[in-house]
Amino acid sequence: MTSELTSLYQEVILDHNKRPRNFHKLESANHHADGYNPLCGDKVTVYLDVQGDIVRDISFEGSGCAISKASASMMTEGLKGRTLAQVEELFQRFHDLVTGRPENPANPADLGKLVVFSGVREFPVRVKCATLAWHTLRAAKENRQQPASTE
Ligand code: ZN
Repeated sequence: MTSELTSLYQEVILDHNKRPRNFHKLESANHHADGYNPLCGDKVTVYLDVQGDIVRDISFEGSGCAISKASASMMTEGLKGRTLAQVEELFQRFHDLVTGRPENPANPADLGKLVVFSGVREFPVRVKCATLAWHTLRAAKENRQQPASTE
C-alpha cells in the first residue's frame, strides 16, 4: 500500500472518530448488547431494530480509541437495510480482512469503505479495537445478556 493511500485511510478513520455516524441510543431497538475490549479500554453498546430478517435501523454508543469508534461508526453505516444473513457474511469478511487470514483473502469490493481497516492487521493489538463493535453486533443479534468481550 502506498503511503498516500495509507494517509487517505487514516483520514477516513479520523473523520469517523470525530463525527461518528449513528452515535445515539436507538429508541426503537428490539436488540442491544454491550461490548468491552479490556486490552484497550474500548466500550460500546450496539442497538438494532430488526424487523423480520431486515436490519431496519442500527446505532451505537460508547467510548474508546479512534479505531474502535470509527469501526463502529462505519459498521452502522454499512449495515442499515441489510438482511441478517448479509450482516453475518460481512462480519466474516471484515474479520478476515483485519486478521489477514491468508487462506481466505477478503475481496475489497465486497467491503466498500470498510477496506480502510485493512492496515489494522499489521497491529495485532488494534485488531480487537476494530472488531469490538462487530462482536457486539453479533451479541445484540442474539440478545445476549453477557457483555461481548474481545478476549
Ligand atoms: Zn481501542
